[in-house]
Amino acid sequence: MQYELTEAQRGVQVKARQVAREKVAPGADQREERREYPRDLVDLFAREGFFSLGVPQEYGGDSMGLLAQCLMVEEVSQVCNNASAILTLVSLGAVPIKLMGSEEQKQRYLPRIARGEALSAFGLTEPGSGSDSLSMKTRALAEGEGYVVNGQKCFISQADVAHLMVLFARTSEGKGTRDISAFMVELDPENGTPGYQVMRAERKMSMKAVHTCQIALNDLRLPASAVLGGEGQGFYLAMKTLDESRLPVAAQGVGIAQGALDIATDYAQQRVQFGSPISAFQGIQFMIADMATQVEAARQITYMAASHYEQGGPRVTMYSAMAKLLSSDTAMKVTTDAVQVLGGYGFTQDFPTERLMRDAKATQIYEGTNQIQRIIIARRYMGRGG
Ligand SMILES: Cc1cc2nc3c(=O)[nH]c(=O)nc-3n(C[C@H](O)[C@H](O)[C@H](O)COP(=O)(O)OP(=O)(O)OC[C@H]3O[C@@H](n4cnc5c(N)ncnc54)[C@H](O)[C@@H]3O)c2cc1C
Repeated sequence: MQYELTEAQRGVQVKARQVAREKVAPGADQREERREYPRDLVDLFAREGFFSLGVPQEYGGDSMGLLAQCLMVEEVSQVCNNASAILTLVSLGAVPIKLMGSEEQKQRYLPRIARGEALSAFGLTEPGSGSDSLSMKTRALAEGEGYVVNGQKCFISQADVAHLMVLFARTSEGKGTRDISAFMVELDPENGTPGYQVMRAERKMSMKAVHTCQIALNDLRLPASAVLGGEGQGFYLAMKTLDESRLPVAAQGVGIAQGALDIATDYAQQRVQFGSPISAFQGIQFMIADMATQVEAARQITYMAASHYEQGGPRVTMYSAMAKLLSSDTAMKVTTDAVQVLGGYGFTQDFPTERLMRDAKATQIYEGTNQIQRIIIARRYMGRGG
């Protein structure tokens, strides 16, 4: 696997860095405290063209591709993960449509996603069905010209503000991969959608401004044209989507880790104890050296896996899982160490390190826990599928 950043990709990186530092970083703590969806950031990202990176040109995007998206997410994640969550969620809406949408569905939804007019949600998880998504109970019954959906979903990010949801539901009994179908659901977050109710937003450890919601589906009526990729293709589509969308999450891990490392490095050079900056002590130097090495390793595997995915290389599922696993574990380790380098101050909210540490935890859980990533990698590595 090889990659080299093109001039256009470097341009994305530089622009995202500038926007992140000048316009996203101020207010990061307040967003977390207020727990209100940051609509100003949606407007900002729309103006800056950040929503269009992953959307093909023929559907209103700019076809910059997955690596460019990762570079953008990494920069924003260094300063605010309510902001980067908004960006990673674009993939969960756009990718399934790109992969399996009909021409009509692509024309109808992708331009709106690219312009930032339509926010997306991904409805897979249920109270009794997390890692084992085949055990979902939500049912879409064929009736007349369409379907009637009943069930519950939970942990669905931005389900309270989304205009589109890729919803997964059982279309036949049985526990096989062909019993699940995916549907495009159009939502009206302002006036409500008949059959769709947000029951509650979870009280979370971090990323509190982008709500993670439990929803009830009571006789939600969908037209036959809402099916994505044909009946029975839902499980395959969910897995294929996650192959791609895990890479922006990996980039989020890299950004979180780099953000914490930068703060720890600056702090170590300024904090004086025993008559010298603590950066003069070998114990601290070794921590910084390990953190820097881990961040760079996570960055390289993420860029390589994204580039490999773009080029349609083999074993993309395995490499994507490896990148998400290593980057999110690195984010957890490096942010924990950064808090340690700051000592008592790291434990306070006077520095962003504690927030970044809480953000890191989420990356080990969503889009498949890291135990599930290890299962994927082991199966692929031992020759059971690509
Ligand atoms: C902030 C946040 C946002 C989220 N956003 C979304 C979203 O937008 N859409 C969506 O559909 N879901 C979303 N999720 C849900 C997320 O994908 C699930 O939480 C995750 O897949 C795990 O499911 P679970 O929480 O039910 O845990 P479980 O599956 O119950 O797992 C519990 C523990 O058991 C481990 N485990 C399970 N099975 C195995 C196994 N076979 N071998 C070893 N260990 C195993 C897990 O790794 C975990 O440690 C979000 C979650 C969070 C925290």
